[in-house]
Amino acid sequence: MPAREDIEPRPSRKSNIKTALVCGAGLFVIVIVLVVYVNIISRETESSLNLFMEEVADVESANARAIFEGEFNILHGASAFITQENIGNEAALLERLREVVDSGSFSRVGVVDLEGHGVAYDQSLGNLTSRDYIDQDFVRKSKGGADYVSAPYEDELTGVQSLAFSVPVYDIKHEGGDPIGVLVGVTSAESFANIIDVSLFAGRGSVSIIDSNGNVLLRSAAAEVDGVDVFSAGYDKAGLPDEAKESLAKGESGSATVIRPNGTTLFTIYRPIGINDWFIDVVVPSDYLEAQNHTVLVASMVMALFVVGVVSLLMYLILRVRHRSEGALARAALTDRLTGIDNELAFMRKSAVRPEYYEGGCSLVLFNLVGFSLFNTIYGFDAGSACLRNIAHLLKSDLRRHELVAHLTGDRFAMLVETSDARRADARLVELMNRIEAATRADDSQYRIVSQCCVYRLERADFERDINLILQDMAVPLKRAQSHAGSRIVRYDECDVAAATRARQIESIMSTALSEKEFLAFFQPQYDISGDVPVLCGAEALARWNSPILGLVTPDEFIPVFERNGSISQIDHYILEHACVRLRQWLDDGLRCVPLSVNLSRRNLFSADLIEQIEHVVDKHRVPHELIKLELAEGIVAENERQLISTAEKLRARGVKIVMDDFGTGYSSFPALKDIPFDTIKLDRSFFGESIADKRGRATLMSVIALLEQLGFKILAEGVETAREVFQLKEWGCQTIQGYVFGRPVEGTVFEQECLRPAQNDLISAQLDGRSF
Ligand code: C2E
Ligand code: CA
Ligand code: CA
Repeated sequence: MPAREDIEPRPSRKSNIKTALVCGAGLFVIVIVLVVYVNIISRETESSLNLFMEEVADVESANARAIFEGEFNILHGASAFITQENIGNEAALLERLREVVDSGSFSRVGVVDLEGHGVAYDQSLGNLTSRDYIDQDFVRKSKGGADYVSAPYEDELTGVQSLAFSVPVYDIKHEGGDPIGVLVGVTSAESFANIIDVSLFAGRGSVSIIDSNGNVLLRSAAAEVDGVDVFSAGYDKAGLPDEAKESLAKGESGSATVIRPNGTTLFTIYRPIGINDWFIDVVVPSDYLEAQNHTVLVASMVMALFVVGVVSLLMYLILRVRHRSEGALARAALTDRLTGIDNELAFMRKSAVRPEYYEGGCSLVLFNLVGFSLFNTIYGFDAGSACLRNIAHLLKSDLRRHELVAHLTGDRFAMLVETSDARRADARLVELMNRIEAATRADDSQYRIVSQCCVYRLERADFERDINLILQDMAVPLKRAQSHAGSRIVRYDECDVAAATRARQIESIMSTALSEKEFLAFFQPQYDISGDVPVLCGAEALARWNSPILGLVTPDEFIPVFERNGSISQIDHYILEHACVRLRQWLDDGLRCVPLSVNLSRRNLFSADLIEQIEHVVDKHRVPHELIKLELAEGIVAENERQLISTAEKLRARGVKIVMDDFGTGYSSFPALKDIPFDTIKLDRSFFGESIADKRGRATLMSVIALLEQLGFKILAEGVETAREVFQLKEWGCQTIQGYVFGRPVEGTVFEQECLRPAQNDLISAQLDGRSF
């Protein structure tokens, strides 16, 4: 048996390539989308981290400014109560300053006059008097009218890192005048640093206040990044890039990546806070940002991969389902639904595969069950189906390596079997048919299905052909064999194949042939032999086809093909018309015209307007009706006697004669014949030749002629080839002869020359070897 892979229907190579391309393109698009997606995510993460840092810097700088301004506002508020008078009254002034300290913002508050002498009140040291502050920055700045806050410094009295805030003091009585002194508030730098001490970036970032030189003024407790105080040496030394230094010097916001001496990098973002040349500076280690970025990236990659995975899985599942359903569909298309074995299509495909499997010799076998339709009628459709399934199973189980079996239609099965040993192969087929018959025998009845098979030994070239067509052709002899009981194995050979091929060729070009009028009528003379000399009494019009493609095609070849597909009626009418044309011409030429017989196929008999059509053609050419005879084959009688009788009667009523053709081939019974309105009976060729030579043949013919005569028919013997036969037939009472002895069918003009012109009798006597009756 051919390898499974040859047999199993699979989606075509083309569809596989298409699927692979679609998948490939799909994956490619997914990968591209993934790369773009990862890129976007990475950039988005980076920019959102930057944005976050900028926001932190903005908020922190606004906070810091608000806090500083708050401190200044407290001092401004307090300065409103200091006048020229109470600057001179130290005790009252100190009392006032103590109130400010007690309010909680500053640990020490003092007033310095324009000469630099100041009094102060300190939370822990109490009153501090008469000190010279003239050289202090805050005195100088605020004396000039500015609010000022100092850089952190170590307080000389307490040793605590402190910040000094100073505002000018004006005499409220002298509005618009110069300051009369400076109000100073001191607070610990640490408490200030606490205000900006926020935990950022999981404790790895820090917020500081730096000046325009990059010096760190205040830093939160978290200012140590990864255990190293990044700013202890100042930004300058920490590796701040020049551009950042420039923007700091200009008091502008900015950001920078700082490479630390230990090789790690920090990202810093700074905002001016509007106090002195100070900035809020947010710092985070770069690796933290990268890690964040990385985490988001990995998370989104995992997400994307998950989506790709799900999509791929879905694609795979869809393709698999499709693949399977395609396979199932293809299998269904190749399986016979009734029996479950291969169908015709599968058989055709598989048998076309690898002829080398069958090199030893193989044959196509077509099985047929005679009487199966009756079986169906008697036992019912279900029993019939079960019977076919049994046979299918039986044949399949008998298959050998590389062999095939299929259920075609109805009761037909086909096999491709190995037949290197013809004798053995035949024995196997007989055995198979016996088994089929045994398996289909109904238990309760004597009814038997008979099986037959047609065998055709395949040649290598046959594998190139459509095996189905060969099977169709093989069905013809098998059908024929049904009527001849006996032979169960019918042979089909190359001649049959050639004939079938030719028939198909004919079929393919015949409609063109008809429209191109490639047909013409030949005429074969008929002679009356009842007198002393044979006298021309008629002729049969016989169709000829001169095909430019196939050459001269004989009626025996093309008539059966035309009969099968129904175009025979067109030929018959064509020949009838041709005959009428000739008759008209001969009548017009003043020749002695004889009736012409035209063959009428059985198909015509069932045409509703047959009579009108014939009459129309004959009348169109003004041909007297009695010059037309119609030949109907004997077989038609048995087929539809009633129809035949009615048509024949109508035609006869119109003067047209009816001839029964091929008498002796169709098993007509004499009693039936007497009811049929025929004028002439044409004895078939098979009565003559060898049959007439033997005694029994002669006796049969004699009695047939005698009987027909008694029934009142005219008798015409057809296919008479020898003078001896002519004499014999005349003796037995046969009046008319058509045969090669008097002339073959010839073209119209030849017929006219040879048969209708006066000198014809010389010709005839020559044909009868000079003997006369
Ligand atoms: P058929 O109607 O029985 O025609 C007689 C056939 O016997 C003719 O063959 C003719 O040539 C042949 N024949 C006549 N005398 C002799 C003889 O002495 N010896 C031998 N061996 N043969 C002889 P043809 O012309 O080849 O026609 C064959 C058949 O084709 C016809 O048999 C007829 O059945 C059919 N046919 C021919 N023309 C037409 C037609 O126009 N319409 C129809 N329906 N059938 C036609
Ligand atoms: Ca005929
Ligand atoms: Ca005939």
